[in-house]
Amino acid sequence: MSLPFPLQQNPNPASPQRRAEILANPGFGKHFTDHMARAVWTADGGWANSEVVPFGPIPMHPAAAVLHYAQEIFEGMKAYRHADGSIWSFRPEANGERFARSARRLALPELPVADFMASTKALVSADAAWVPDEGEHSLYLRPFMFASEPFLGVRPAQEITYMVIACPVGSYFSGGVKPVSIWLSTQYTRAARGGTGEAKCGGNYAASLAPMIEAAAHGCEQVCFLDAAHGRYVEELGGMNLYFVTSDGRIITPELGTILEGVTRGSILILAKELGLEVEERPVEITEWQQGAADGTITEVFACGTGAVVTPVGRLVWDGGEVTAEKAGTEDSVTMRIRRQLVDIQYGRAADPYGWMTRL
Ligand code: PMP
Repeated sequence: MSLPFPLQQNPNPASPQRRAEILANPGFGKHFTDHMARAVWTADGGWANSEVVPFGPIPMHPAAAVLHYAQEIFEGMKAYRHADGSIWSFRPEANGERFARSARRLALPELPVADFMASTKALVSADAAWVPDEGEHSLYLRPFMFASEPFLGVRPAQEITYMVIACPVGSYFSGGVKPVSIWLSTQYTRAARGGTGEAKCGGNYAASLAPMIEAAAHGCEQVCFLDAAHGRYVEELGGMNLYFVTSDGRIITPELGTILEGVTRGSILILAKELGLEVEERPVEITEWQQGAADGTITEVFACGTGAVVTPVGRLVWDGGEVTAEKAGTEDSVTMRIRRQLVDIQYGRAADPYGWMTRL
């Protein structure tokens, strides 16, 4: 049996007018719904106090361990409204399983996948009116868990708070899908073997900010990280996985190990086979990208993740040079075909042969 998440109704929800205003122009990560789900774990009592409560600030002890030792993990997924008004999520169990793997790495208690599902379902049903019904808009769901125990000392915390918050989000690309430019970070790495690269923990993202500043200074929007051991193999972007399409019909993505196992990445491995592409999951040397894009053997590069689904990568810029894959983002590209296929499944416009959609 999963945890119950009874609803404590928000006595002061956003007015229907205010909600309509936000839904018309949601942006990304700025406006939140009327409620949030919460549960608290203690070493003595396990999971308890599970509820959906009015959205609002959370009291935090200044010695809460998360503020000092960053014992924290999170997830990101979306709820999509289909044409008949029903609300669905894309492979939420995969996010629940990844959340449990992240928890193990950060010495946090595992939240059973059934409870992860129950909490998101309870929040979405309380805030169903916040799920947009326009274009590629959706409700972004952010489950997270942090060490709330007030204790200064490096050890796994004895009290942990789990929450789910939600925000309506617009299309990632206001002016249509545009290729992003990537800065190749050679000074910084994201994760080492045995580190936390496979976990979705806040610290990974904090460490990616200085390289992001470097990227912006070079006119780039995202950072590509190389492996820590050799500085030779492509890993991923700060918040997305990478794919390469070759002129002879192969599609290649870096193998797992020190990167985040993206739900989108895993789904594309399956969809690409359907499109008749030969799929390779293996180490990719950065020179393979640089030379392949220059000599035309790599025709497309794209990034993928829940936020932007699939994004064509245009320029790769490094200290001393740059290269662009020629077909990035063109309408008949593999990138755009995969993008359309995924988005159509998510919004219920295409059949779902793999049972990826879960009704919330
Ligand atoms: N890599 C990183 C570092 C990420 O933060 C994300 C976003 N969660 C991804 C890849 C893509 O994962 P997903 O497809 O599950 O969103």
